[in-house]
Order: sequence, then structure tokens, then C-alpha cells
Amino acid sequence: MQLDAVILGAGPAGLAVANAMVSAGAQVKVIEPAGRPGGSIRTIHADGWLVETGPNTLQIEGENDQALLERYGLAEVLQEADHASAQRFILSKGKLHALTNQPSSLFKGDLLTWRGKLRFLSEIFRPRGGHAEETVQAFMTRRFGAEAADLLMDPVVSGVHAGDPGRLCMANSFPSIPALEASHRSVILGLMRQPPKGRRIIGFPSGMQQLADAIAAPLRDGALELGAMATLIRRDARGWNVAWRNAQGQEDGATAKHLIVTAPHWQWASLPFDEELKKTFREWERAEAPPVTVVARGYDRAAVAHPLDGFGYLIPGNEKRQILGCLFPSTVLPGRSPQGKVLLCCFIGGARNPALARQTDEQLRALVDRELAETLGVSGPPEKEWIQRWERAIPQYGVDQTRREAALARAEAKHPGLHFHGAFRGGISLMHVIRAGDALGQALAKG
Ligand SMILES: Cc1cc2nc3c(=O)[nH]c(=O)nc-3n(C[C@H](O)[C@H](O)[C@H](O)COP(=O)(O)OP(=O)(O)OC[C@H]3O[C@@H](n4cnc5c(N)ncnc54)[C@H](O)[C@@H]3O)c2cc1C
Repeated sequence: MQLDAVILGAGPAGLAVANAMVSAGAQVKVIEPAGRPGGSIRTIHADGWLVETGPNTLQIEGENDQALLERYGLAEVLQEADHASAQRFILSKGKLHALTNQPSSLFKGDLLTWRGKLRFLSEIFRPRGGHAEETVQAFMTRRFGAEAADLLMDPVVSGVHAGDPGRLCMANSFPSIPALEASHRSVILGLMRQPPKGRRIIGFPSGMQQLADAIAAPLRDGALELGAMATLIRRDARGWNVAWRNAQGQEDGATAKHLIVTAPHWQWASLPFDEELKKTFREWERAEAPPVTVVARGYDRAAVAHPLDGFGYLIPGNEKRQILGCLFPSTVLPGRSPQGKVLLCCFIGGARNPALARQTDEQLRALVDRELAETLGVSGPPEKEWIQRWERAIPQYGVDQTRREAALARAEAKHPGLHFHGAFRGGISLMHVIRAGDALGQALAKG
């Protein structure tokens, strides 16, 4: 079988590449070990609950993202996040502090002291500085002061990236922020001067799996091989020869111009590459992706004292709590819980506390009971509970990420037709891997 591309992995990254190529008339084969497309997307439908134990929402920016979702046939079904979810809470000294996307909420509230607020604002007058390997903690402290670094950025890094701001590299993890410093001297001035990005938080009536299924929809006639594993990968003059074992245990194979690796980096050592390529992956063996356990719970509305009038809450590391944060999915999107019930979703573990994610179900239950009682005034046991363990959750872009990405770029330059794309490189968010996957697929289909 002669193809244009073989794609390893049917997560959002691989699906986006495949969709773009097939839509442009290319012949592809996607090899995926799991029995369904979507990778880290985990949507559960149970007794009127719609629970996501992987990504909960998609953050889109501007018309191009909207157009891409329209191309996937999702225009009519997009669910906009409720306006209440523009409010987010930060837990500090045992109290939830509300912040909105209006800067005034930071200055009116008492999350930062007046000294901390002044130091934050003085960012406007600070000179450029820093270096390419500066950590998130160092960058934020230098520009905005220690208080803002600890109370504003730290909870985002630990809640969204499951990371440690003292180890993540600013330029690799949040490249647009140092870019503002480089171009405008001040991040605040840069933000004020740039046109609005048109950011929206969205979901889908049947959950995130609906997104994966829509991207996978054009992969007909065996283009998506579920339950399959690659058994051999070799390159010769005709291109990339890939053999795989399908879900029925039969051997099959193809030769393709392009081979796109979208399986997560911790799987690369087990892929059947030759020894020379495997050497490239050694750089990636120590690339961190710490464990996170998600505990989602359904409660009767009356059992939760807090109004849940927001997206959820995040927790700075110096609070020394045992969870990273808690989302309020039934506030954010419609149809997540039956009438009169609410859904809460807690994240535990991450780079700073990997051992917590590996606790037993009983230990996790006790920890979540305590946390939700203290912070949201939850009383009594949940009506429903779902526990999802991610032994490797989110790739961490530390200072070594630059060297590792350079190794991939060298391998791609040396081996024509070889490409790597996924959350391990360039950006960890769902919309990023889809957007960049679409661009890669379109470029390969043309070339
Ligand atoms: C708990 C959690 C919550 C998250 N929340 C959000 C959120 O709210 N918003 C957001 O934007 N992002 C979120 N993310 C990040 C988002 O899930 C990722 O950006 C996205 O899934 C990355 O897509 P991917 O295709 O690169 O990798 P994955 O989704 O990991 O997919 C990789 C695919 O490769 C397959 N594979 C594995 N081994 C092999 C092999 N040997 N051969 C071939 N294929 C293989 C896997 O089975 C999988 O299907 C979250 C992630 C986690 C873990």
C-alpha cells in the first residue's frame, strides 16, 4: 500500500494532521493502540451526568479557530461558557478571592496587599531584563514582584500545567509573555496595546469526545486503524515503511512519504525505530510529565454552600493544600449534571506533589472530602464519583525543553518525511495541538 502519510497516534494532534491531509485529498493511515480516537479526551455519560476526566473545555482565539471548528462541522453545536465562568477564584489564607478578566478586579479585591498591587503596577516602568532560561517564578518575580508571582502565576502554573513555577521555563511555557517584554519593554503595556484576541471558552453538547469524533469523521475506509500497534518502522528510497498489527492480530503495512509521530514522548522508546533514531529519543527519556489524578464528584445542589459562581478555584503552592484546584463544570457549561445537582472536578498531584496523585482511592476520597468541606462548604458524601489516574499528565517545558526540541528538529532535517507533533512540543493546550496539527497537515498535503 503506497500512502502519503502514516500517523502514529489518534489524539487531537494526530487527528488534526490526518483531517487536514485527507480533506486535501491525501491518503493516510492513522495507527492508534486505543479503541477510540481522542487520546487524553475522556468523556463519560452516566445517569444524566456529563463528566470530563481529561480536558474540560477548549479555549479558542479569533476567527481562524472558529473557522477550523466550522470546517469540522461543529459550528451549530458550539456551547459558549456561561458568563459566570469569567469569574475565577484563588484560594489564599483559607479564603476564595474572585478575579475576573477585568484588571480592576485585582485592584479592588484584597488578594494582593496594597504594596503588592503597587509593585505589580510598577511593571510598566521596569527595564527589560532576564534571559532565555529564566524560570516562570524568576520572570514573574522580576517583572511583577514576589507577591504577584506567588498569588497569581503560581496557581495557574500548578493548576493548569500541573507544574512547578520554579522549574518551568518562561520562554518555553508561556512564550507570548516574554515576547511582550521584548517588543514593548513592559508586559502590561504590551497587553494594553495589542488588539483583543477574541478568546472564548467553549464546549460541546456531547462533551469533548464530540470534538474528537468530528475531527476523525473524514477518516473513512480504514484510514483510522484503532486497536493497532506499529511493529516496524524503516526508511528506504521509497519512503517510510511501516508495519503494524491490527485489532484482529493481523500484520499489515504501508509505505508513505511522511511519517508523523504524535504518540506522547514517553512512548517513543517502545516504538520500533532503528537504533539511530532511538538515540534521538534518549534526550526525551527524562522529559517530565508528572502524574495527576482527577476526582470528579456529583452532589445535590443543597449539599454545597458556595454559590459556585465561577469557573473554579486554583491554589497557590504556599497554601500547602493537597489539591491543585477544583473546576465547577456544571456552572461553566450546560448539561453537565441532572437538574438540581452540581458537578465538581478536583485535580491532585502534579510536579510538586506527585506522590499525592498515587494515593489509594480511600486516601484520595478523604483528602477531597476535607478540601471541599473547608473551601466550598460541602456537606455529606457525593452522590456520584469518578476517579481518573493519569500516570503521565501534562508535559513540563523546563529549561531542557529547548535542547530537546532542537534534537527533534535535527532528526526531522536529517530524515526527510519525518515529523513530530503533539503536546510534547510547542504548546500543551488542546486548541494549540489542533491548530498546529491542521497547519502541518495542510503543508504536508501540498508538498
Ligand atoms: C487531566 C488533563 C486535563 C486537561 N485539561 C485541558 C483543558 O481543559 N483544556 C486544554 O486545552 N487542554 C487540556 N489538557 C491537555 C490536552 O488534553 C492535550 O493538549 C491534548 O490531549 C494533547 O493531544 P495529543 O494528541 O498531543 O496527545 P494525547 O491526547 O496524549 O494523544 C496521544 C495519542 O497517542 C496514542 N499512542 C500512545 N502510544 C502510541 C503508540 N505506541 N503508537 C501510536 N499511538 C500511540 C495514545 O493512545 C493517544 O491516542 C488536559 C490534559 C489532561 C491530562
